[in-house]
Amino acid sequence: MDIKQKDKKYVLGTYGRYDLLIVRGAGAECEDETGKKYIDLGSGIGVNALGYCDGGWIKAVEEQLETLQHTSNLYYTVPCALLAEALCERTGYKKVFFCNSGAEANEAAIKTARKYSFDKYGAGRDKIITLNKSFHGRTMATLTATAQEAMHNYFFPFNEGFVYCDKDIEEIKKHKGVCAVMLEFIQGEGGVIPMDKTFAAQVYEYCAANDILFIADEVQTGVGRTGRFLCSEHYGIKPDITTLAKGLGGGLPIGAMLAGEKCESVMGAGTHGSTFGGNPVVCAGGRYVLSRIDDKLLSEVKEKGEYIKSRLSGVKGVKSVSGLGLMLGIELSRKKAADVVKECISRGVIPLTAKDKVRLLPPLVITMEQLEKAVDVLARVIAE
Ligand SMILES: *Cc1c(COP(=O)(O)O)cnc(C)c1O
Repeated sequence: MDIKQKDKKYVLGTYGRYDLLIVRGAGAECEDETGKKYIDLGSGIGVNALGYCDGGWIKAVEEQLETLQHTSNLYYTVPCALLAEALCERTGYKKVFFCNSGAEANEAAIKTARKYSFDKYGAGRDKIITLNKSFHGRTMATLTATAQEAMHNYFFPFNEGFVYCDKDIEEIKKHKGVCAVMLEFIQGEGGVIPMDKTFAAQVYEYCAANDILFIADEVQTGVGRTGRFLCSEHYGIKPDITTLAKGLGGGLPIGAMLAGEKCESVMGAGTHGSTFGGNPVVCAGGRYVLSRIDDKLLSEVKEKGEYIKSRLSGVKGVKSVSGLGLMLGIELSRKKAADVVKECISRGVIPLTAKDKVRLLPPLVITMEQLEKAVDVLARVIAE
């Protein structure tokens, strides 16, 4: 039985997979079982920031793997402390909680916000505002936080204490008993929708004035994806909490909640945890990823993003291109995004979709030559 059939037979059917089996990769290119090559414009959904099997990353991970693979959080380990230090020095945050995914990072943020408010104001001030079209994860709490009606079928009852708003400050101000606002600066799964700077500043001011925590979900936008280390830097905002995941591990599972001054001491011993969180091998990989995301790489990310935008503007069938850096959404006027992606894959280029847009999250290290080739194919498929 071939692999695709085995997968269909034995793996729970929660994913609608493309007809593509990826067996190996290097940099921004991967190969299927027949040896056919593809240029990757998706990075495994924003995860492989350094592309497939980066040499330096492998070395960092392998060295740690041969030294110590896991201890539990009952003990200190070197990579965990060093990655936390690197993240704090890089971002100005005070403390880091490590876990294994974006949803878990957001769970940690939700718990921290609730406890921050409970410690200071007592019970009842526990609501968390999220924005329509957001995506925060698939665990029960983060699914509830995800303000997309279509995802709220089947799984009742949902957690209490989440309210959804449009990007309208007056709507946000109406809600009482709120401990936090959680938002994405660029809604990723919702369709690559950047937040208006004025609205972001209004929310930030309102939160600061009312001691409501401002939580930025940078699971997709963080770690250099938009051309700054954090997307909040584009907005001149320093959220009380920022969550990271996807790109941080370079391909291994990691999530991180960064806590600022207000909530660095909220979560004491025993209030939260994760068996795998802060795993030495994963943290060693994360440290290496961070070491590579320097100013030079960030300015290349910006340039590559601008290149894609300028190449696609004016292409027949492209209505608009949204996003920043290497997180872009292409609105189409004639074709369906899913059809464009399928056709691109058959021609050796792998983009993503986000709602009705084609979404691009290429590895940050994709070369200009690869990008030119891939955008050629993409533009042709869209225009045909
Ligand atoms: C992907 C994503 C998540 C969920 O991350 P998982 O690792 O799949 O749990 C949460 N928030 C945003 C903004 C994301 O893009």
